[in-house]
Amino acid sequence: MLSTRGLSVAYGGIQAVKNLSLELHEGELVSLIGANGAGKTTTLKAICGLLKPQAGDVHYLGRSIAGQGPWSLVEQGLVMVPEGRGIFTRMSIDENLRMGVYLRRDAAIEADVEAVYQRFPRLKERSRQLAGTLSGGEQQMLAMGRALLARPKLLLLDEPSMGLSPIMVDQIFSVVADVSKQGVTVLLVEQNAHRALEMADRAYVMESGELTLSGPARELLGNPQVQAAYLGA
Ligand code: ATP
Repeated sequence: MLSTRGLSVAYGGIQAVKNLSLELHEGELVSLIGANGAGKTTTLKAICGLLKPQAGDVHYLGRSIAGQGPWSLVEQGLVMVPEGRGIFTRMSIDENLRMGVYLRRDAAIEADVEAVYQRFPRLKERSRQLAGTLSGGEQQMLAMGRALLARPKLLLLDEPSMGLSPIMVDQIFSVVADVSKQGVTVLLVEQNAHRALEMADRAYVMESGELTLSGPARELLGNPQVQAAYLGA
């Protein structure tokens, strides 16, 4: 469904991603883990069209998507939930959610908004409240709900558990598992390496802009190198 070939991204003189090749098959949940500054966010931004790669290519659904902007990719079902959630704090919850349907013109919009409210009753109770007044976990739910309303085929999630309480972390991961079970392909970037490996089919490990390990997530969970570097063993 998605592949990058020799992807390189630089910020001026800083080489953030170097010659990175990864792939995701339809229906998979793949985690990308690595230390702070390893280049995970930069990789996601290059995939979804927010950053222009210096070299390399990205293929999505069998075609090169190099040079396409995020709006065009969202229309094709490639949707990212950014780190920090990207909530419009001075808009209501309902208005934020409806930004997710901005590019849609079909008849199922209202039913889909209602389905998101069913999935996240907390958002429904507060639909007219300003989004900036939500807790961190609720804002993450809002960001996920908004992304789901764009009808993603491939969802890129950047640190969805960041800064959340353990209960909220559980809830967010359970939504991710659920969305994946419904057939959406997921690329999950996470600091919480343990949870990210537990729930994924496969995973990649990134260090200093490069992929250093990859394989079935269960195998990486048992890998002593991964345990020492990322699992606190
Ligand atoms: P974290 O887990 O801390 O979010 P990350 O793995 O997502 O880290 P990136 O945010 O992709 O890492 O950053 C990779 C490298 O690129 C880092 O050295 C970072 O300082 C640098 N970098 C990121 N964004 C910019 C920017 N806008 N301008 C300059 N350098 C940047």
